[in-house]
Amino acid sequence: MASYLLERSPTVRRDRLESKYEHLRYARLATAAQRSPEFGPYDGLVPAAGAKQLASILIPTGPALEPTSITSTTQPVTNAVSASRLETLGTCPRKYFFQRALGIRAPDLWERETNAWLSPLQLGSLIHELFEEFLLDLTARDLVPNVARDSQPLQSRLDELLRKWAQQIPVHSQDAFDRRRNELMDTCEIFLMKEQEYCQQRQARPWIVEASLGSPRKDRSIQTANPVINQATNPLDCDTPIELALTDGRALRLAGRIDRIDRLLITGSERYVIWDYKSGSNFGYSQSDPFAQGRKLQPFLYVGMLRHRFEQLDRDPDAVEGFGYFFPSPRCEGLRLEWSTVQLSRGEEIIRQLCDLLTSGTFIATNKKEDCGFCDYAPVCGPPEDLVVISEMKAQAPGNPTLDAWRSLRHG
Ligand code: SF4
Repeated sequence: MASYLLERSPTVRRDRLESKYEHLRYARLATAAQRSPEFGPYDGLVPAAGAKQLASILIPTGPALEPTSITSTTQPVTNAVSASRLETLGTCPRKYFFQRALGIRAPDLWERETNAWLSPLQLGSLIHELFEEFLLDLTARDLVPNVARDSQPLQSRLDELLRKWAQQIPVHSQDAFDRRRNELMDTCEIFLMKEQEYCQQRQARPWIVEASLGSPRKDRSIQTANPVINQATNPLDCDTPIELALTDGRALRLAGRIDRIDRLLITGSERYVIWDYKSGSNFGYSQSDPFAQGRKLQPFLYVGMLRHRFEQLDRDPDAVEGFGYFFPSPRCEGLRLEWSTVQLSRGEEIIRQLCDLLTSGTFIATNKKEDCGFCDYAPVCGPPEDLVVISEMKAQAPGNPTLDAWRSLRHG
């Protein structure tokens, strides 16, 4: 070591150090490559990862990277891709690479949470379960939500559900539990009020609750007292992945769970709208920009899946009117964002751009630092401010043809 430190020539010293500690050479090359306008392996260009065969070499037991295939009648359909997986790719290809190609997962941390009872994920599950149970009961009786009639029963159902959840998820603080309960009571009130208003205005009736398309229906995490609800299925459920054909000949194999489908009566004809409940905030969602530059794909994909399912069942696919998000939390005050099938039609172009990213193995970092906000990989990625500047510099530089799909995705 002394001989390294005493060496006067920086180049010789560096070469000696790098011959001993090889990772230092890679770090130097990576830093230099990131500063150059060229987009290369150190920025996320990994063509091998785009191909199924090579992807399986990278992750021998992992899932295939490319989620598309030419539709074939001889090849059985195996795995299916979810909207959230494609949304990860559209949000940040580098994140997708870490998650899907390298299979890196953040460790599960066990923290005793005393300030909040239920994580955001658990809160979402509980709300979905509550509304599912409530609406299954209503649809079985051919009713639409009504504040005067349903307010008390819905709050009683909530209390019953809270008791069951509290048996499985320990309550460390009564204050935290009470705060969560109050928030959920307000959510129920907003939900009912907005549902009554919406059903009246749109001549809508909840039709299907929790349709499982493309994958087997999962058992409920917590069973209700009503066996009919526990075993509820519906005519749309199907185990086989749904194929969504793209105009370039490829086809996506999709799976997803639709929270709810409403039937609308419009000038005597029946139309259908998909609704997805969002228990969190509406950050990142915009009525004027349904795709958020590839970050939001669920509306387009779910409409496509339902149209396909309708075709399989000899129903009219054009009866699928559109897709909406419903945010019933007190923070969002029952906000609804809704797009027609026509407004979502550009989704196909975006899906093709995402597939092109995978095909060329382009796993560039996002160009928006907000995407890094809750990302598990932030500790290994570096400061988001620097990442987005580098990403944008590469995208703006002339050349780099593998970035064409990315440029189109982000800059139109
Ligand atoms: S921290 Fe940012 S750039 Fe890094 S993987 Fe996450 S979203 Fe992508």
